[in-house]
Amino acid sequence: IHEELRQKEKLAIIGQMAAGIGHEIRNPLSSLRGFTQLQQERYPNTNDFYPIMIQEIDRINSIVNDLMYIGKPRVIKFEKASMEEIIAYTLSITQQQAERQGVTVETIMAGPLPPLDCDEKQLKQVFINLIKNAIEAMPEGGSIEIRVKVLEKHKMSVSIQDEGGGIADQNILNLGEPFFTTKKDGTGLGLMVSNQIIKDHNGVLKIESEIGKGTGVNVTLPLSQKNSRNN
Ligand code: ADP
Ligand code: MG
Repeated sequence: IHEELRQKEKLAIIGQMAAGIGHEIRNPLSSLRGFTQLQQERYPNTNDFYPIMIQEIDRINSIVNDLMYIGKPRVIKFEKASMEEIIAYTLSITQQQAERQGVTVETIMAGPLPPLDCDEKQLKQVFINLIKNAIEAMPEGGSIEIRVKVLEKHKMSVSIQDEGGGIADQNILNLGEPFFTTKKDGTGLGLMVSNQIIKDHNGVLKIESEIGKGTGVNVTLPLSQKNSRNN
């Protein structure tokens, strides 16, 4: 319990710092990205560094976003959004990394999907985190399957299945712990933040993994937030 308290205090302090600094970092970062992109368009074929620079800027941005989410009181604004669009956006962000690693992504959407009440920006952050994890689990390439469907009782389910190495038993309990990572340049923030965002949407995030076979992450979200406690 002592350890738990310490952890909470640590997170609160990190959260406060991150919220302050993150805000200051994001604006210069976005102008840096804009100018890099401009430069890339101006001099196509001259140098391969621009895509890498843009990708690294995006990486800083997503770390800052994850950090900003910790410990700070969250205001969620539910608005109708399309899951097709959220997934399409997510894939556009992760596409380069997937291609570089020889990872293909197949998306299976069951029928026309109804819009759902959500904070679109935050759900994008969740799916970017989950798809990045799936890609990173397959350094030698492989395929990712994303399935989206509507469940009975007005819920939507999104599942992301990879063919990576899976998660070792001794690590399962640590998943979602802040800063728990098995990657040499991981932050260990992605799952924690994703789980929190899904909870804030009155949804559930579940992970099922089999060593040597792959990992599946399932997110279930209510279509409507009208009757939920967050509204
Ligand atoms: P990070 O990606 O920065 O390590 P995350 O919170 O996203 O932080 O993930 C924490 C840890 O959970 C990862 O380091 C990895 O060990 C494990 N993990 C998450 N997703 C997967 C996956 N799809 N396949 C295998 N391991 C995973
Ligand atoms: Mg991650």
